[in-house]
Amino acid sequence: MNMASIQRKCTVCGCTDLVPMKFAELTGEPGVFLEPKVDSFACVKCGHMEFFAKEAEIRNSIIQNDIRVETEQKRSAAEKELAEAKAELEKAESIVNDETQEFKAIKAAQERISVLKARIKELETFLR
Ligand SMILES: [Zn+2]
Repeated sequence: MNMASIQRKCTVCGCTDLVPMKFAELTGEPGVFLEPKVDSFACVKCGHMEFFAKEAEIRNSIIQNDIRVETEQKRSAAEKELAEAKAELEKAESIVNDETQEFKAIKAAQERISVLKARIKELETFLR
């Protein structure tokens, strides 16, 4: 993005002679103005004002969007893992409750259950 090289043009009269002109935003409180998040320019010919988002604002917005997408991906991965862990927990519990299972298999299932329960708790906390 090289915004400095862009030729700005009035969208009303087509004049390319635009001068920077500050544009204050009222906050709603009397007499309180905000520094606007846009660069504003007035057309020398017709006075129409053109607004351009500041490069930093655009970058910030892109970063925020990337963070949002990343968070959504992490959540959906956690939801998938949680479903799988719950299914595995159910299987492990059925092994523990099955009297025909060997002691070794039951012991292994019990160990797996405690690992799974801890992970499920972690995932549920993350997804809350
Ligand atoms: Zn103009």
